[in-house]
Amino acid sequence: MTSPLIKPLSLLRASAVALLLLPSLAAAKPQYGYKGDVAPEKWGELSPKYAACVDGAEQAPLNIVTSATVKKSESKPLKPEYGPTSGDLVVNTGTTIQVNSSGNLKIGNSNYKLLQYHFHTPSEEAINGVHYDMNVHIVHQGADGKLAVIGVNFKKGAANAFLGSFWDKLPTTKGGKLELNLPSLSGLLPDSLSYFTYPGSLTTPPCTEGVQFYILKQPISISTEQLEAFRRLHPMNARPLQPIRERVIKTGG
Ligand SMILES: [Zn+2]
Repeated sequence: MTSPLIKPLSLLRASAVALLLLPSLAAAKPQYGYKGDVAPEKWGELSPKYAACVDGAEQAPLNIVTSATVKKSESKPLKPEYGPTSGDLVVNTGTTIQVNSSGNLKIGNSNYKLLQYHFHTPSEEAINGVHYDMNVHIVHQGADGKLAVIGVNFKKGAANAFLGSFWDKLPTTKGGKLELNLPSLSGLLPDSLSYFTYPGSLTTPPCTEGVQFYILKQPISISTEQLEAFRRLHPMNARPLQPIRERVIKTGG
């Protein structure tokens, strides 16, 4: 596999990864979207570079059928070390809100750097066929260049305090951005970090594979007002569920 995703971090700066994850910001790459001519079923036709979106063997997101999951033989708890941040960039990419941030994550004995997090509505992953109202994907990169994504689902309820720290400042137009100091991202994690894990792909073009997902079992809350504020900007930005093929979803944490 020649994807830049597996190059060492030293060869692939976080900013380059951010562009890879966000083709809409790279001028030469065709825009993708969620309806009409640029809808997910057309992504493979938008560019030869997006071939994995139609030809890939391990694409994401998945429906997690809990009765078919198996326990990981070796327990690898997620140990996030997220502190308060300064100078995070909050960007409206045209297809989501993304926050370029920093922090550390340990999974077992492996170290990862936090690159960015972004939101989908409804949730991209489903559990037993049910989607949540929204989810956040927290994207990290290991020293070997591989990506590890923690997914947290939002369920309507009380207002979310972490989102409350910047949700009224979301940039409203494509390309709009602002710099913010934010509280620790741990405020966006549930009490339990038990997870479902599987190998998948970027859920946006170029749909590059080799991304390990850790979808947390416990959802967190978001108020109706907070959900509506996001949906006014991005009414629907979830890729349809992808075939699981030979993969087995494991549980851990
Ligand atoms: Zn995502």
